[in-house]
Amino acid sequence: MSGKTYIFRGREILVDGGGDAAAAEAASLAACPDAFRCDDPQSGNTGIELPAGTEAPAGFRFLPIPSYFFAHDDAENARASRMKGLAQWHAKTRFCPSCGQALQPGSIGNSLECPACGRLLFPRIEPCIITLVTRGDELLLLRNVKDREGIYACLAGFVEIGETLEQALRREVREETGLEVKNIRYAGSQAWPFPDQLMVGFYAEYEGGEIRIQESEIADARWFRRDALPKLPRPGSIAWRLIHGRLEDNCARH
Ligand SMILES: [Zn+2]
Repeated sequence: MSGKTYIFRGREILVDGGGDAAAAEAASLAACPDAFRCDDPQSGNTGIELPAGTEAPAGFRFLPIPSYFFAHDDAENARASRMKGLAQWHAKTRFCPSCGQALQPGSIGNSLECPACGRLLFPRIEPCIITLVTRGDELLLLRNVKDREGIYACLAGFVEIGETLEQALRREVREETGLEVKNIRYAGSQAWPFPDQLMVGFYAEYEGGEIRIQESEIADARWFRRDALPKLPRPGSIAWRLIHGRLEDNCARH
């Protein structure tokens, strides 16, 4: 089976009239002088990163990648996420962080290798926790300071060096809202290649404290009843799945 070509422009993916990833006929865009091409030896697929401002060819359009996730199944989303993450990592990883030499393709999979010092680099994944905190029938949802659409989402943050996922979750909840949580339960995960996150989803229950937001990051945090939810993140995101209890289905299938 011949590989599939995934063409990206930042957080968007090029799709054909049917909403599927643009096949080889659109790959002429790869000839664009500033395009970056990455061939994945493991999957046989290709990822192409286009510079901002590149126009879609006739019959194709750019779609936000989360919308693509919503429209496709988990197997296809894993393929698209992989190519997005790989193309992005290869496009931005040019020089050895130890000695500054230009990197070359490595001998293992998608690695890069330094010809001077031998350092081997692999595509990075940054683990992030995302959690839906509940208090009886109520859900804790937060609006980020960067949000311009009035969207309330689940609490999320990067795992720090030396932490377990559970410690990161407790720390993030405490920092962003001043609350304590208990009964942390794993719910499921999602690759989120913007640029390189693995979102690890959990449910947690309120244990104590009053909401005291971290104003540098959070514009508002409140308890919402299920029958009066605010504007939520779009379907296809792990936050939407956590809020609607759809991650368990996801885990059970795979
Ligand atoms: Zn080096």
